[in-house]
Amino acid sequence: MASRFLARQSRSKVMALSDVPPMVSFTFDDVPASACELGARILERHGARGTFFVAGSGCGTTGPDEPPRASIDQLRTVWANGHEIGCHTYSHPAIRHISLGELGWELEHNRTILKTISADIVVRNFAYPYGDLSIRIKRYLEGRFESCRSGHAGINSGIADLGALDAWPLQDASIDYAKIVELIAETTQTCGWLIFYSHDVAEPPSKYGVSPDLLEWAVGSATRSGCILTTVAESLDLIRGRANSR
Ligand SMILES: [Zn+2]
Repeated sequence: MASRFLARQSRSKVMALSDVPPMVSFTFDDVPASACELGARILERHGARGTFFVAGSGCGTTGPDEPPRASIDQLRTVWANGHEIGCHTYSHPAIRHISLGELGWELEHNRTILKTISADIVVRNFAYPYGDLSIRIKRYLEGRFESCRSGHAGINSGIADLGALDAWPLQDASIDYAKIVELIAETTQTCGWLIFYSHDVAEPPSKYGVSPDLLEWAVGSATRSGCILTTVAESLDLIRGRANSR
């Protein structure tokens, strides 16, 4: 925990969130098949797109205690429909405990897998597995990706730390309707950037997942409050004043 705290305090890649509207991003990690199916459909119904942080080793697999993971074909459909594909390492290690050489291998191997979705895919953004980071790892990843999303609960406002963006778990087990309203209201008031993250989208969801009703409600609430719904890449483009690039 101390290592994560120090890494968050050490900021070397920052960007001012000025002159941008309040933004809400919906992201999914690992990624379960239900996020690509139900999750993507809910976002699309609202004209929105999400960011899917894929750990390539799990593609198309089913673990004993885990929801089935998306296949490459399912990820291809999601990408073709305008959603963003991000990197979440290949084998989902706690990266603070591996060498930079091993981390480099994780990134390259995952890149190879993601390129099988499409040769045209450009992977711009990263999410830390388990939210695990250190200063050393953060510096390394800042140089490899435009942004890295942490697991630290918060809303990005004022100056955003692109090496460890704050994010809030959108999981039925840890958030309720009232908290979502509060977070979106704060995002609107501060012209901030709220990033939600989840895993499976199911009824009932896993411990780390979200139910379709809660996701639908969060997306609708963000839209009604005047926030714009963006992928992580779209937010970065907006912040840089390049709203139309992708
Ligand atoms: Zn993960």
